[in-house]
Amino acid sequence: MKSLGRHILVEFHGCSAEILNDVPRIEHGMLEAAVQSGATIINSVFHHFSPFGVSGVIVIQESHLAIHTWPEYRYAAVDLFTCGDSVNPWVSYESLKGAFQAEHGSAIELNRGQLELLEKIDIDLGDMRDTATRKLMPPKHSRSVWFTDKDENIALSIRHKGDRIFQERSPYQLVEIFDTFKYGKMLTVDKMVMCSEKDETAYHEMIIHVPMLVNPAVKNVLVIGGGDGGSVREILRHPQVESVTMVEIDEVVVRASREFLPSLSSALDDPKLDLIIGDGIEYLKNAPSERFDFIVVDSSDPVGPSVGLFSADFYKDVYRCLTPDGMMAAQSESPRFNQSAFVDLSHCLQNIFEPQNVHTYLAFIQTYPTGMWSFTYCTKNGVHPVTALDADKSAQFAADHDLQYYNSDVHQAAFCLPTFIKKIVSRPATAEAHAQ
Ligand code: SAM
Repeated sequence: MKSLGRHILVEFHGCSAEILNDVPRIEHGMLEAAVQSGATIINSVFHHFSPFGVSGVIVIQESHLAIHTWPEYRYAAVDLFTCGDSVNPWVSYESLKGAFQAEHGSAIELNRGQLELLEKIDIDLGDMRDTATRKLMPPKHSRSVWFTDKDENIALSIRHKGDRIFQERSPYQLVEIFDTFKYGKMLTVDKMVMCSEKDETAYHEMIIHVPMLVNPAVKNVLVIGGGDGGSVREILRHPQVESVTMVEIDEVVVRASREFLPSLSSALDDPKLDLIIGDGIEYLKNAPSERFDFIVVDSSDPVGPSVGLFSADFYKDVYRCLTPDGMMAAQSESPRFNQSAFVDLSHCLQNIFEPQNVHTYLAFIQTYPTGMWSFTYCTKNGVHPVTALDADKSAQFAADHDLQYYNSDVHQAAFCLPTFIKKIVSRPATAEAHAQ
């Protein structure tokens, strides 16, 4: 042994881009490479960069293994630094080449701390001996991995534990579930947050109970989308409801929710529910007129299969399929994050239902970009969402069901709109033409 340590600087090219962006797989590969080389693991710290790249270090008793990845170049830079004779860093090199599926690897070895240049001195450890020789603590692992829902200018990031609990690409979209630190399990579709266990109540209580508590005669309900099951769960709290039809295009969302989000999907087996896997747009085109008292459009953002759920043709069918006293509620996007979708939808609905029968309301949804989210309530018969409210009954309902977000004050306050929103939803003179 001519040096204290061996430092191998490694270049891996032509790796799997997917693996190089995946913290759990990289961390697992690095830990495995350390163990195979004979090292004793002390600590592991990894960080994911948005949208691409991972940095991480495994501290071993014999020094460290470190990595920085550039998935967009299928390239990883790796340092393998080991001290003593008991560890062979070249074993780690071979192991990592396989783990990253590298087409090509190259490395140079440096001797660190060449003994002929060093002079050893005696150190009297004295009282330090106990601290210096204390037992190894169990290895610690820490990951900084974030899910980011964003457009070109605004982003919301939520830290999660690193592993995807569920991931499947359906014919329509990429469906994933992450385990977050603050919001429990979180469902995402095409990298957009759909709902999380800890704050889904805001969305589902508001999209359902605001309309239903001012229209207590509702018996037949249709939900378009809503595959996580949260809307159906809230609808079925109202005992007068006789039937609920849910048309969700993607069975993968339903399956993932049934398996991993039981608090949301708990009502999906209720005998009053008819669950149809199909396109809500096609379903409504063929549905009989005046069939439903309440139609809920619980769609994802206007991307992929949801685009048509933001169109005038679809809402004309919604109108046609509502009973004369029927009403509709839709998630209508963020007035800031998705302003054009929000405004276009509001104008489109005003053309179909008449402006006085269209009411925007807001809820604060912590896991959606900007937090400010809107819903739109429309009726055929003009039942007003605030003046028609029986506040005592709604307060009693919220208490009886232990609701987490909805209460009678929130119901009324939700319709108080900031001035900038009032301005953008007021229908322009040309809106008629715009919606056609
Ligand atoms: N709370 C959510 C949000 O605003 O982010 C909505 C959640 S829910 C999971 C939305 C569902 O709408 C998705 O499961 C998606 O598959 C479904 N969907 C999208 N387009 C659809 C269509 N044309 N017909 C029926 N369901 C559709």
